[in-house]
Amino acid sequence: MKILIVEDELELSRVIRQSLEDELFVVESAANLKEGLDKIIAFDYDLILLDIMLPDGSGINLLKELKKLHKKEAVIILSAKDSVDDKVEGLNLGADDYLAKPFHLAELHARVKSAIRRKNQDGDQSVVFKNVQLFPDDRKVLINKVEVKLNRKEYDLLYYFIIRPEKLMHKTALAEAIWGDHMDQADSLDFIYSQIKNLRKKLKDHSAQFDIEAVYGVGYKLV
Ligand code: CA
Repeated sequence: MKILIVEDELELSRVIRQSLEDELFVVESAANLKEGLDKIIAFDYDLILLDIMLPDGSGINLLKELKKLHKKEAVIILSAKDSVDDKVEGLNLGADDYLAKPFHLAELHARVKSAIRRKNQDGDQSVVFKNVQLFPDDRKVLINKVEVKLNRKEYDLLYYFIIRPEKLMHKTALAEAIWGDHMDQADSLDFIYSQIKNLRKKLKDHSAQFDIEAVYGVGYKLV
């Protein structure tokens, strides 16, 4: 699951980023509105943590842009300005939640997980596809009700496929979602290939009722 932090207080941004990476999220950051806009145009995220008072404009503009682009990212506004107007405007523009600074990281994590649950899992604790069940809060996977151990990237890949109804994934979108957009493209495509190979073997060994197939020149498909 990939998160974007748009925050100009660099120390705060770094602390949030580190804490979310410790929870095994893939995290990117932008230090101003312009960088944030560039990122949301080029990439997809599961969730955005959005500061309102940015040096080059209001974070509200990024919410407006998301709406214009018909993007479905969950957004949590982080603002020092605990004003009702800000909160109402943000929520009206599609933000999912609002957290006033200063906040505890534990509360931020709880809100992040809850926003992602609402966005990706209809608010449920687990997501089910055929005979496979994932519990994202503790990254647990059951196949035929038996727990199966997946490494971090195998889990991320499986979750990415299962929450997307179209189930055909372009390889570059997959690479960006699982490794972040800082990684070298060729390396990440090689990694995907080997991680998918391992994941397929585990799915097969545990008799999962689906498989992941390569679609030549495009990416991968859940079948
Ligand atoms: Ca700020």
